Amino acid sequence: MSDTNDVQLYDLRRKTYPNQRGDSFRSLQVFLCPICAALTNKVVMGGYPGYGVRAVCPNSVEDWHHNLEDRVGLLHKFPHPKSYKEELQKEIDEMREAYKSLIKNDIVGNPDMNLMSAVTNTRSFHA
Ligand SMILES: [Zn+2]
Repeated sequence: MSDTNDVQLYDLRRKTYPNQRGDSFRSLQVFLCPICAALTNKVVMGGYPGYGVRAVCPNSVEDWHHNLEDRVGLLHKFPHPKSYKEELQKEIDEMREAYKSLIKNDIVGNPDMNLMSAVTNTRSFHA
């Protein structure tokens, strides 16, 4: 990771960014992780599912992130009774609170915070 602010940020709306599988660069756009709410503007070309622009949560390799993702996945996986969902949501909120100090953002340069979308990968992959 670099702390320099003169790194080049690529605008994903223009097709001028590196596009070979495995290329990695910083984007003007910002990606938010729906699991842990970390921010990143690191983009990798390739990966799963299918080839393309991928933004991976910087915490995706952490065990606690997997735990949290499993709980969030449960919320969406089956139709649950409302009371169960509320319990689960409460548990997730408590986990997020507990993991707060562990959440790492990965922002380099001065990206545009108005251009925010969800990370494409909440688990790590090899490009
Ligand atoms: Zn995350």
